[in-house]
Amino acid sequence: MTGKQPGRAARHVPQRTCIVCRRQFDKRRLTRVVRTPPTSPSDRGGVLVDPTGKRSGRGAYLCDQAACWDKVIRHPGILNQALNAQVSEAELAAIAADPRRPAAVEVELDN
Ligand SMILES: [Zn+2]
Repeated sequence: MTGKQPGRAARHVPQRTCIVCRRQFDKRRLTRVVRTPPTSPSDRGGVLVDPTGKRSGRGAYLCDQAACWDKVIRHPGILNQALNAQVSEAELAAIAADPRRPAAVEVELDN
């Protein structure tokens, strides 16, 4: 047992809302997807996973449920709306392949 005392004020953990399920979670349970601003004429910016949560740009949060990631990848309009952007197929593929994506729930499909 560590020295945590009951009754001591819990440290406030920032809450963010998942753009898919609309539930609030501790920020650390969410993955930030950010639309980065263009940095040069040849770099128009883009939509990408922001593991640091510190990149500038408009952000959207996905919770740690595989179903939410699956849904946003199948329905990128959710992300487009949250970021006010048009997510490209390449960007979506990169999000789908991100290591922070929760593992899909294994369903036994034995046919
Ligand atoms: Zn969610």
